[in-house]
Amino acid sequence: MTKFERVSPPENGTPITIENDRLKVPDDPIIPFIRGDGIGIDIWPATKRVLDAAVEKAYQGRRRISWMKIYAGDEAVEKYGEGQYLPEDTLNAIKEFIVAIKGPLTTPVGGGHRSLNVTLRQVLNLYACVRPVRWFKGVPSPAVHPERMDIIIFRENTEDVYAGIEWQQGSEEANRMIEFINKELGKNIRLDSGIGIKPISITGTKQLARKAIKYAIAEGRGSVTFMHKGNIMKYTEGAFKDWGYQLAVDEFRDQIITEAELWDETRAEDGVTPITKPGAFAHLRGGRPAGDPGDRIIVKDRIADSMFQQIQTRANEYDVVCTPNLNGDYISDAAAAQVGGLGMAPGANIGDFIGLFEATHGTAPKYAGQDKVNPGSLMLSGVMMLNYIEWREAGRMIEKAIERTIEAKTVTYDLHRQMEGATKVSCSGYAEEIVKNMA
Ligand code: NAP
Repeated sequence: MTKFERVSPPENGTPITIENDRLKVPDDPIIPFIRGDGIGIDIWPATKRVLDAAVEKAYQGRRRISWMKIYAGDEAVEKYGEGQYLPEDTLNAIKEFIVAIKGPLTTPVGGGHRSLNVTLRQVLNLYACVRPVRWFKGVPSPAVHPERMDIIIFRENTEDVYAGIEWQQGSEEANRMIEFINKELGKNIRLDSGIGIKPISITGTKQLARKAIKYAIAEGRGSVTFMHKGNIMKYTEGAFKDWGYQLAVDEFRDQIITEAELWDETRAEDGVTPITKPGAFAHLRGGRPAGDPGDRIIVKDRIADSMFQQIQTRANEYDVVCTPNLNGDYISDAAAAQVGGLGMAPGANIGDFIGLFEATHGTAPKYAGQDKVNPGSLMLSGVMMLNYIEWREAGRMIEKAIERTIEAKTVTYDLHRQMEGATKVSCSGYAEEIVKNMA
């Protein structure tokens, strides 16, 4: 086992391991957690309370999580010293124990500091940013039919214009690039331009698409949509789509059907968009109607800008969405806004095996320590984590309890200010209500 400098794993826990390409989860897994800066001090204890209670209740004491405290952000500086925002111990613990959860972290300001979140993703090769977006009954929403949204976004995490390859206008590098591209490659970039590079690789695309399709299969989802801007950026976003289809057909032939094949096979009239939820045709008898994929997952693609319209007008036609980094950034927040905002949106960064589950909002420093904010985002990230280790009964129990609590209009300040006749509770009070509502 790895040697840690200033933290130690709990004695009464067992590490998660990988066997035959799958996680092997003991009944007492060691799971490292980073409390987080700012409101992390409020939302982490509330989340831990709910996760522990659900596991206890779902498995009657047969299972429990052995938490291991690790450090990042301000807490890490206190423990490890000046500038130590992300100690080696922390990275080693996540690598060793495979599944971890974190609160929000302040991005240190000042020269030389990269975002801790970006560093974590890159160092641990967490190439998929996974964001489920669904509506909880009772949450105020600007949409007419927020209940139609139930998607899960797989956003590529390491490439695209986020790769950080860019040069300032007027810099020697930018000028050299412009000269090279104009002279050697016959293009005509304005001489006073800044330059950014958008790499999208076969490797990056296929590892993401594989994860998205495997997820759709494991979770019984109906479709995977490649969202891209390939009509304009043919060799990056267009290639992303092509490589995605190729992987789907090469590796999942028996479990998927492409939309084009489906139209062909079922002679659906051009323009009929197959309904994508599993069981959508269960009520029909006597033959397969146009657009019925049977028990296969439909693989399709959509141009990014049209998807922004369609998640508003026809959200129920989307299920798993697989997309490059920048599109993923935009669509995640746009979709979350439709179901009531980022306050409740969970997320995870996942690699081949390592899963780091996190709140998607920031540290909201003005509320830190006031026991006030909504812990929903971190709690639902905890639900994703429980599903990831296949402790689904506990995950479902939390989701149901959150639903009941919101339906009873017992909510934190952020939802309270948008709901009529609601009762406002503190962050910890909300956690207690959720625990009470666990059936
Ligand atoms: P923020 O911390 O997300 O807060 C912005 C506003 O969102 C808050 O003032 C509050 O709105 C609302 N909010 C956020 N979390 C909430 C919660 N749990 N419950 C209820 N309302 C919540 O964004 P920011 O102020 O732009 O960023 C602050 C710091 O967080 C920065 O250092 C940033 O780099 C960092 N950050 C970290 C992560 C991460 O670790 N994943 C992500 C984003 C930002 P009202 O004021 O309207 O009540």
